[in-house]
Amino acid sequence: MGGQPMFILNEDSQRTEGKDAQTSNIAAGKAVSESVRTTLGPRGMDKMLVSDAGDVVITNDGATILDEMEIEHPAAQMIVEVAQTQEDEVGDGTTTASVLAGELLKQAEDLLDDDVHPTTIVEGYHEAAQLAQDSIDEGVLDADVDEETLLKVAETSMTGKGTGDVAAEDLAKTVVGAVQHVEADSGVVRDNITVRTQTGGSSSATELVEGVIVDEEPAHENMPRSVEDATIAVVDNDIDLKESSIDAEYNITDVDQLDQAISAEEEELRGYADALADLDVDVVFVTGDIEDRAAAYLAKEGILAFESVGDDDAKSIASATGASRAGSVEDLDEDDLGEADEAHVEKFGDDELAFIEGGTAAESVTVFARGGTEHVTDELERALNDSLDVVTAALDMGGVVPGAGATEIAIADQIRNRAASIEGRKQLAVEAFADAVDVLPRTLAANTGMDPIDALVDLRSEYESEGIAGLISEGQTGVVGNPIEHGILDPAAVKQEAVESATEAATMIVRIDDVISAE
Ligand code: ADP
Ligand code: MG
Repeated sequence: MGGQPMFILNEDSQRTEGKDAQTSNIAAGKAVSESVRTTLGPRGMDKMLVSDAGDVVITNDGATILDEMEIEHPAAQMIVEVAQTQEDEVGDGTTTASVLAGELLKQAEDLLDDDVHPTTIVEGYHEAAQLAQDSIDEGVLDADVDEETLLKVAETSMTGKGTGDVAAEDLAKTVVGAVQHVEADSGVVRDNITVRTQTGGSSSATELVEGVIVDEEPAHENMPRSVEDATIAVVDNDIDLKESSIDAEYNITDVDQLDQAISAEEEELRGYADALADLDVDVVFVTGDIEDRAAAYLAKEGILAFESVGDDDAKSIASATGASRAGSVEDLDEDDLGEADEAHVEKFGDDELAFIEGGTAAESVTVFARGGTEHVTDELERALNDSLDVVTAALDMGGVVPGAGATEIAIADQIRNRAASIEGRKQLAVEAFADAVDVLPRTLAANTGMDPIDALVDLRSEYESEGIAGLISEGQTGVVGNPIEHGILDPAAVKQEAVESATEAATMIVRIDDVISAE
């Protein structure tokens, strides 16, 4: 080719190759994982994240932290995706998964330094991951996943979370009650559970509402605030004059004509209330506006009406009560109506909330939790959602395993036992995987203020003699013991997903030896 250099990349693009690419990707991935490490476990600390705009989020939740950090490095982003996948698939274990991914990278870096080929590392990691899955399967407790087990799973997932001053035990009861309520033959209908938190009002109470709660207030003060055996309509329109008849139809020249125009308007507005009353509607949710006079007529008919109802609220009311959303009051007919045993409005501080409970509406449940401040309720909401997810996972997806690091100790031990029979350098990668898994009990120990090496030694020797060993967090410190006896249980699905997504991300990063980025 005549010795002319050929440029295939834009002049502005940047390229990092070989060892440099690996080192920088691994460093980025490790850094991300490092950033959530201190939050792992019941004694994990919280993080305060402050956005450009000054918004503050205080959380212990791995997925939330990584999301709020707005990470840009592409390899680092892959660790963020590990947490997101974990959150989407099983709803908990996000810190576990990202810490594991980071440690797999760290171990891989050492192997690369020792000239183990990336492909060998990838193969060894995949083989070890399979051994880990087998070990998790073996660790699944035999006993039925009964209510008592579910309560333990719920409580385990909330220990150490900022759940305000509400007792974890009470929260666990509410969570399990909610999941059991929506359990069908085909499994748990998780979508039928909503978490609603409310700041202020009477503090620290959680209750299970069999129905939906929406943040809406009555359109008129004379409306009833409570209705029994409620017939419910949802209307996606305004309740207002079609067009102002004063402007449109009359050229007003005297007072009589004005009166006539006004009474034509009043009649039109009253028509809405009459139409709804004829259908025996007790409660109407309107996504548009309700004209003041129309609201007064509705009040006179004893109809409880809400205006400017958000689309999400309209959707959940319709689906909970069996109502169909009508395009207008005129379009409404009997088939469109939903029902509930009760609808009522309650005041909490400055907010008013509408509760639609019982009857058809009771197919959906709402976990209603209150806390002192917004930061508390936000974190409480995350903890409750995680907990609902793990209880769902425990019921629907393959049982429970001991928590507190016990499953990880067993995984590492079983991988090491099998590694001996694996030939060549791949054995090193398999062993490195086991060492990486150790990071989880080590981190639990460190976050409890214990020496991680001593703790690991104690855990292994207890595992040797008892066949099970976890690091139980008790008060200020941790003790080695049997997590089952302490009721510390995690869903098997959370561990399985963590192994899978962490392995996937780490091996993907290890395989990259060329980074080409456009400016
Ligand atoms: P993740 O985001 O991975 O769920 P968490 O901070 O929720 O991280 O910590 C989960 C780990 O904490 C699990 O391994 C669980 O078994 C463990 N854990 C929960 N409660 C206790 C406890 N009382 N003692 C020891 N470990 C616990
Ligand atoms: Mg958790």
